Amino acid sequence: MIDESVLVRQNEDSEGQRVAVVGGGVVGCVVALRLASSGRRVTLFEAAPALGGLAAPWELGTLTWDRHYHVICESDANLRALLRDLDLEREIHWSSVRTGFFTGGKLHEFTSLRDFLAFPPLRMHEKLRLGAAIVYASRVKLDTLRRITAAKWLTQLCGRRVFAQIWEPLLRAKLGANAPNVAASFIAVTIRRMFGARTNSGGAGKGAERFGSVVGGYARILSVLREKLESAGVEIRTSTPIERISARGSGVDLIVNGASEAFEHAIVTAPVPVVAALIPELTETERARLSGVPYAGVVCASLLLDRPISPYYIMNITDHWVPFSAVIEFSNVTGIEQFAGKSLVYLPKYVATDDPLFAQDDEAIRHSFISALIRMIPGFDPAGVAAFRVSRVRNVFPFPIASAPYDPPAFATSLPGVTLATAAQIDDATLNVDRSIGLANAAANYLLNATPQGTSR
Ligand SMILES: Cc1cc2nc3c(=O)[nH]c(=O)nc-3n(C[C@H](O)[C@H](O)[C@H](O)COP(=O)(O)OP(=O)(O)OC[C@H]3O[C@@H](n4cnc5c(N)ncnc54)[C@H](O)[C@@H]3O)c2cc1C
Repeated sequence: MIDESVLVRQNEDSEGQRVAVVGGGVVGCVVALRLASSGRRVTLFEAAPALGGLAAPWELGTLTWDRHYHVICESDANLRALLRDLDLEREIHWSSVRTGFFTGGKLHEFTSLRDFLAFPPLRMHEKLRLGAAIVYASRVKLDTLRRITAAKWLTQLCGRRVFAQIWEPLLRAKLGANAPNVAASFIAVTIRRMFGARTNSGGAGKGAERFGSVVGGYARILSVLREKLESAGVEIRTSTPIERISARGSGVDLIVNGASEAFEHAIVTAPVPVVAALIPELTETERARLSGVPYAGVVCASLLLDRPISPYYIMNITDHWVPFSAVIEFSNVTGIEQFAGKSLVYLPKYVATDDPLFAQDDEAIRHSFISALIRMIPGFDPAGVAAFRVSRVRNVFPFPIASAPYDPPAFATSLPGVTLATAAQIDDATLNVDRSIGLANAAANYLLNATPQGTSR
């Protein structure tokens, strides 16, 4: 039996313990907040000049907004709880949004059941089969889907023609060259999240997706979160990339600018291939395992336009010649008033981490993306592009491979005093802020319940 008085004494001993959190994205910020609120002395290290990681804002012409599009789903319980803590939940602006589908050179509405039934590229029996498959995918047990590729599973469920017309292009759009290998669990989890955003009422009609966004975007969320971190006593060090982490007695040393700094414990929130390079003292097996986790990357253009280009939040694309994965017209969630009457559009292209697109300069990307918009959208005027900026991230989300069923890394690592809290621990990898916060909460609880030295053996 556990002696509770010992546990209480251990927790009291560990108060005041110095903990380093490496990475100031959503996970790092939330872990830091939870630990500091429980009495740990926390230093948060972020390589970039500001907090936020993938959710960080940047300047786009005259606008400060998220570098990557970020919507909130009504089912995002962890995120909404955090926003409640920050007194921001009431600032969420909710909208029912419309969806488009660009296929065979034409744009079709794909919002309601009626749109789905009228969708020209598929025959009626194919639509019924596709609809049944989507409902099934939203409910099926995930365990059964980790050893079969999404391609094989979706072909079995929907037939070859529907797979070739709809699923194959969508998988390629989300995963680039990695699409044929991804496990079916990945697509089932993605469908579940989209199902969670469906509504039976709302302006865009029955079945429309309902998304939210805090007025002011993640710039607003992160500035309130930063204040909360500071008032909880977290020391925030931005523009401070950690170069190496190594063992020191019962704690760890962090190497910053060539000098070392001692902590009782470190929690690392960077992508796992980065972790493997950062901690040479992990066992060889563990380093090989972490550096072998496959990630998808993204090249994502943001455009500020003089006028809207469509009524849709998302335009899915199946035509191979289009150089981006989707058109995300974010101002159809927020309203153009947030952007001084302009329309904010993202053109993401999801790619493998070594895709040649990473080497293309902004001008080349601008030319190919805008040429495609001219072909796709009747009346699109390139002179109306008020600002254009490109973000490139190689390690965005890890994804499960069917041939090697994935065993996510644990919080504990082979180096005592170092804990992992990173996207590769999120099952089936639908990366979103809600699941990132869930992971951060679990990692903080894990550490708070660990031994007084914080070792995770
Ligand atoms: C294009 C795109 C669209 C998205 N859309 C949505 C959406 O609509 N809704 C939603 O909920 N989520 C969305 N997400 C996902 C969301 O952004 C992530 O779930 C979340 O931001 C992940 O946070 P993280 O802390 O795990 O990782 P990251 O944000 O990657 O944070 C890791 C941090 O570690 C830092 N770091 C790395 N190495 C070091 C080092 N050596 N020293 C110090 N710091 C280091 C990095 O600079 C980074 O800031 C989207 C993401 C992308 C890319």
